[in-house]
Amino acid sequence: MTRLSKPLFIRMHASDNVAIVANDGGLKAGTVFADGLQLCEQVPQGHKLALIDLPKGSAVRRYNVAIGYALKDIPAGSWVHERLLEMPTARTLDNLPLATLRPEPMAPLAGYTFEGYRNADGTVGTRNILAITTTVQCVAGVVDFAVKRIKAELLPRFPNVDDVVGLEHSYGCGVAIDAPDAIIPIRTLRNITLNPNFGGEVMVVSLGCEKLQPERLFPPGTIAIVDERHAPDVGHNVDAPLDVVCLQSENHIGFMSMIDAIMATALVHLERLNARRRETVPASALVVGVQCGGSDAFSGVTANPAVGFATDLLVRAGATVMFSETTEVRDGIDQLTARASTPEIAQAMIREMAWYDAYLHKGLVDRSANTTPGNKKGGLSNIVEKAMGSIVKSGSAPISGVLSPGEKLRQKGLMQGLIYAATPASDFICGTLQLAAGMNLHVFTTGRGTPYGLAEVPVIKVATRTDLARRWHDLMDINAGRIADGDASIADVGWELFHLMLEVASGRKKTWAEHWKLHNALVLFNPAPVT
Ligand code: CA
Repeated sequence: MTRLSKPLFIRMHASDNVAIVANDGGLKAGTVFADGLQLCEQVPQGHKLALIDLPKGSAVRRYNVAIGYALKDIPAGSWVHERLLEMPTARTLDNLPLATLRPEPMAPLAGYTFEGYRNADGTVGTRNILAITTTVQCVAGVVDFAVKRIKAELLPRFPNVDDVVGLEHSYGCGVAIDAPDAIIPIRTLRNITLNPNFGGEVMVVSLGCEKLQPERLFPPGTIAIVDERHAPDVGHNVDAPLDVVCLQSENHIGFMSMIDAIMATALVHLERLNARRRETVPASALVVGVQCGGSDAFSGVTANPAVGFATDLLVRAGATVMFSETTEVRDGIDQLTARASTPEIAQAMIREMAWYDAYLHKGLVDRSANTTPGNKKGGLSNIVEKAMGSIVKSGSAPISGVLSPGEKLRQKGLMQGLIYAATPASDFICGTLQLAAGMNLHVFTTGRGTPYGLAEVPVIKVATRTDLARRWHDLMDINAGRIADGDASIADVGWELFHLMLEVASGRKKTWAEHWKLHNALVLFNPAPVT
C-alpha cells in the first residue's frame, strides 16, 4: 500500500465541474494541484472541490450529471458540500427511453468453473446448510435453543453439512395477512426457504395459532417447484407432507418434548444433506446479489466500478447478477430503461419505480430520505450523487429481467444475465430479498464500513478506501481503495473479485464475515399494515 505523496483529485467525467479529494486525511487550504488549481479551504478526503468558479444557480456536475445547483457563488478551489447545493427534483416516469441503447454484445467468457452443490431444480448451492423455517416470531426462542443443541450434538456427525440456520423473522402474526401487499413478506419467506444453499430440504417450526399457517406459507405445489428433479434419489419427496413441528400440538408435554421433536426432524434432513458432494459446475451457476451500504464518495469511484467490471465478467460467463436498491437507482432511471433489452423490461422497471414512489409518498417522504449522516460525512451530498455511484455496480450489460420484491428468479424463467431485483436500499432488507430471489453469493461494498454478514450465503465485502481496509483488515475481503491510490486499475480489482468469488463459492476460501460468524437478521419487507 502506498500513501499518496502528491495532492490528487479524481474527476469522473470530462464535463464534470467538481472532483473529489483522493488523499487520506484530506487536503489543507493553500494546497496546489499539478494543474495549478489551489484550494481556498480545507477539503476532507472524498469530498468535492470546485474545479472552476460556479456561479449561483449553476449546475454542479459529477458523473456527467447535475447532482445539484449552487445556492451561492462558489469560487474555484472551494469545498462543495451539501449545504451549498439544491437537490434536483426527481425525473418523472413519463416519456422515458425504452430499450434504446442496444449495447454491443459482450464476448462470452468460457472456461471458468467452481465446485458447488447441484440441486435437483437446476440451481447450485455454494454452501450446504440445513435451514429451519419458522412461520412466526413466537417460536424464535425455541428454534434458537434447538439450533444450538443441533450444532453441538448433531452437526459434528455430518461433516459435509456446513451449518444449521433458524430462519427467524418478525412476521407471521399480528399482521393484516389478507392485505394485498402481504404477498411480499409471505413469498419472501417461502422463497428464502427454497434458496439453493438449503438443498431443497424443507422443515418448518410452527406455533399453531398464528395467522401464517404452514399451509399458507407453502400452498400445494410450492414445494413441488423445488422438486422438478431429475435425480429422485436425493432430497425431498414431492408427495411427502410438509415436515412441520407444531409447538401447540397436544403431543408435546413440556419444553424438552418440543426440542426433541425439532432435533429428530432435523436429523432426517441432516442425513440427506450430508450425502451430497461438491461437483465442478460452470461459473454460469453463480447467482450473485450486489449491494452497497455505508457508502462514501469513493464508493462510486473505486469499489462500485470494480464490482461493475466483475458484473460484466459474470454476465459474459453466463451467470446471473442482481442489482437492487430502488431509491438508489431512481435518479438514474433514464439510463436504466435505455439499457433494458426490451421495451417490456423497461416498462417493468418503470412499474417498480412508480410503486416505490407511491410507497414513499404514503409516508410523506421521497427518495431523498435515503441518505444517512455517514453518507454526507463521507462526501455524498445527496441521493442524486449517491445514486450515480451506486448504479455503476450494474456494469454495462443490457438489463434482461426485473423481479418484484420477494419474487424468485427461476419462477420467472430468469436464469442468466443482469437482473434488476426491486428492493429497498436498506442493507438487511435488500439482502433478505436477494436471498429470496435465489442468490448463492453476495458482494457488498462499503466506504464508511459495515460488518454486515448473512448466515445463509457468503458475503464478500469490498472496501472503497485503503484507510478503511487498513483499519478493518480482518473484516474487509478486498481493498478497492488501491484504485484511488494509483496501485491498481478498476480491471485489476474486478478480476481479483471475480477469482475470489469462484474460490469462495467453491468453499476453498471463507469470507471474513463467515470466519467471525457475523450474521445479520433476516428482515422481511412488509409494506402491509400490522394489527
Ligand atoms: Ca444498501
